Amino acid sequence: MIKRKVSSTECVHAGAGRCETASSITTPIVHSAPFTFESTQELIDLVEGRSERRQPEYGRMGNPTVACVERKLASLEGAEKAQLFASGMAAITTLFLSALKQGDHLIITSDCYKRTRNFGTECLSKFGVNVSIVPPSLKAIEQAIGPATRMVFTETPTNPFLYIIDVEGLAKLGRERGFLTVVDSTFATPVNFRPLEFGIDLVVHSATKYLGGHNDLIAGVLAGRGDLVQPVLDLLMTLGGICDPNTAFLLERGLKTLALRVAEQNRNGQVIAEFLEAHPKVDRVFYPGLPSHPHYQIARKLMDGFSGVVTFLLDATFEQTARFIDAVKIPRLAPSLGGVESLIEPVVVMGYWDIPRHERESLGIKDNLVRLSLGIEDAGDIIADLAQALDQL
Ligand code: PLP
Repeated sequence: MIKRKVSSTECVHAGAGRCETASSITTPIVHSAPFTFESTQELIDLVEGRSERRQPEYGRMGNPTVACVERKLASLEGAEKAQLFASGMAAITTLFLSALKQGDHLIITSDCYKRTRNFGTECLSKFGVNVSIVPPSLKAIEQAIGPATRMVFTETPTNPFLYIIDVEGLAKLGRERGFLTVVDSTFATPVNFRPLEFGIDLVVHSATKYLGGHNDLIAGVLAGRGDLVQPVLDLLMTLGGICDPNTAFLLERGLKTLALRVAEQNRNGQVIAEFLEAHPKVDRVFYPGLPSHPHYQIARKLMDGFSGVVTFLLDATFEQTARFIDAVKIPRLAPSLGGVESLIEPVVVMGYWDIPRHERESLGIKDNLVRLSLGIEDAGDIIADLAQALDQL
């Protein structure tokens, strides 16, 4: 296994070059729905697959601005091919619909984004795909594998407890037992962790989060071997959940500072997790860079950094937790993560309010659980802000 670092040079320059028109340093936003041909023969050559031309005839099949960003993302993930989508959910649902058929078995780990799990249990099940939701551990995944298992889908780090999956073990199981392994790497980013290096087949991201990095766009990406990505792209051309060129431009601009931003968010994550862990009004902190996290050792082995999300339990009731969140001034109360602005949320309200108390508590979602997604503000300012809010408990 060759582990490499993602550098700022790569973030700035990878994928650029072939998009240069009008001597522009930046990637032009190409606004064209149809793309024209010089002659009928040129069209025939494209249709018959003999053309050198990279641009298809219609924007739902591909766009030069989008393609440029896809090349950058493929480079960062160490993938043969990357494909952009209208959202992370468009990437995940198009992948599921492309790779699974009636009678197949899909395993999703339980810490996965709620709508990923729901799409499996509520939608794919209607089409005869059997879906198992299992705890986020290699042991639980192994126990759930059956003869019809076609795909295992997991996040790592997971949300909200930032558990780390043994992806090397998972990739090995996938090869031995003949199923596809897919990692949603949204919380890690290719700066901190590149699943394909460990033998995982496909990686997906909500590019809405760290990749875009500025809380101003919604997009998704799928990356991996060309022969695995291409069928998903073929279905995307029919389903239509494509990324538009304006969003691709914003995403590329964000990607140029990915390594810089994530390095700062890693630093903020570590320092603020340590501050919270030492605070008397905090019961427990979940951060894979802390020795107290159950997956600290494997996180150190697999990852180059631990990102900027810190989850913690206050020594407080729900009312006090709400008061703390409302008293914080720099992190804004909002879902999402990975942007330059810090965000904070009461986990129980944001994702689990409609789930009966006993059920959510069995998942570890308690009234006093808080998720803090750190941006790039100065750690000292955030610590002072958290300290004044904790003083109000
Ligand atoms: N994957 C993870 C880990 C997420 O947190 C989310 C959204 O919060 C998604 C996928 C869905 O991505 P999007 O919101 O871009 O559709």
